[in-house]
Amino acid sequence: MSRGAAPGRTITPDEAIRIVLDHASPLPAEELPFIKTLGRVLAEPVTAQDDLPPFDRSAMDGFAVRSADAAVMGAVLTVVREIPAGAPAGARIGAGEAARIMTGAPIPPGADAVQMQEETEPADTGRRVRLLKPVAAGENVRRRGADVAAGQRLLEPGTRIRAHEVALLATLGVVNPRVHSVPRIAILSTGDEIVEPDQAPLPHQIRNSNAYLLRALASGMRIGSTSLGIAADDPEALRERIRSGLDTDLLLMTGGVSVGAHDHVAGILREEGAEILFHGVSVKPGKPLLFAARGRTLIFGLPGNPLSTAAMFGLFVAPAIRALRGEREPLPARVRGTLTGDLRQKPGRTWFALVSARFSSAGWQASPMTSTGSGDLAAACRANAFAVVPDAAEHLPAGAPVELILWGEGTA
Ligand code: AMP
Ligand code: MG
Repeated sequence: MSRGAAPGRTITPDEAIRIVLDHASPLPAEELPFIKTLGRVLAEPVTAQDDLPPFDRSAMDGFAVRSADAAVMGAVLTVVREIPAGAPAGARIGAGEAARIMTGAPIPPGADAVQMQEETEPADTGRRVRLLKPVAAGENVRRRGADVAAGQRLLEPGTRIRAHEVALLATLGVVNPRVHSVPRIAILSTGDEIVEPDQAPLPHQIRNSNAYLLRALASGMRIGSTSLGIAADDPEALRERIRSGLDTDLLLMTGGVSVGAHDHVAGILREEGAEILFHGVSVKPGKPLLFAARGRTLIFGLPGNPLSTAAMFGLFVAPAIRALRGEREPLPARVRGTLTGDLRQKPGRTWFALVSARFSSAGWQASPMTSTGSGDLAAACRANAFAVVPDAAEHLPAGAPVELILWGEGTA
């Protein structure tokens, strides 16, 4: 593919997201049993084959009547039968007749209204019913096609399937919808200092949190991932692991993308035939973020600090995943809020500041978190949103309006 940033140029987050989305085209479609499509994205429109409801049905427990008979107060009608839900409508209701009917049962021919049970009383030991109020044509009847007309297009391609969409597919009998495939994700941690969580680190080592952060973020998006383990900061070890991840759709690497003497990721990716599309984004945290592509494989080099990794996943990787799985709206939603404390920064980068956001009668209120920096996972555990501090802003005082990205799928 094409269209990256000039080598060595730090770009804005808007430029970066545009480059990412330019390279993340939807994966091919497959047919899936509808019950397995939760979280998937439709690759085709869904159209109603039939009217919904499919027949005129009662919206109440009561009596199906001819409105002509029921226009007056106190009409007494002969109850000819009972129609439970799931029973056929049966024969025509004649003049002076009514059928006891249950919610969801078909309206019998001849009848055009339902008087609810509560507005009736038995007359003549139950063979007849007295209507305590008049009822007009159409009252308490769910008309055939009232919700959906046959042929109506109900869901567009690019729609994310939630529980409600699963239910609609079920209602329509669309049992094998076509949905986009989800990306196969490989996760590679790099760094000589990293050991697995069940190991006791030596004094100069730290436990791997990023791989588990990334796996959890992906799994929160209902996407599995493969771990490629930990690669040492050694070009040949790194090359071997990177190769094993290049046949996936998305290779996520953490660490080794800065400008340190042992940061080999960019160089090896280039040697392995990947095109570096950008390396450096004016964001905080996460500035060294790297994005590359080789064939259809997209590669992110995420800065090793856990909070950088998390923020870069939410802001760039999650949108890439959404675009790969065919979603029309890949970017995280933003809401407007108000700061309850000051945020100060050295201007120059867009700062995704950790805040704790709470909804109040005055809208979203965001309290800045004190954190010791981009390794402070404990601070992140107290946060539930990013406040977006514009690159030019040096000081946002308490009371200032601010855009918030509330954490949810892809961000937490
Ligand atoms: P790097 O991006 O390699 O310069 O790493 C930046 C910081 O993140 C360093 O303090 C690393 O020790 C730390 N770090 C790198 N990888 C991980 C990881 N997988 N889990 C936790 N911390 C990490
Ligand atoms: Mg490192």
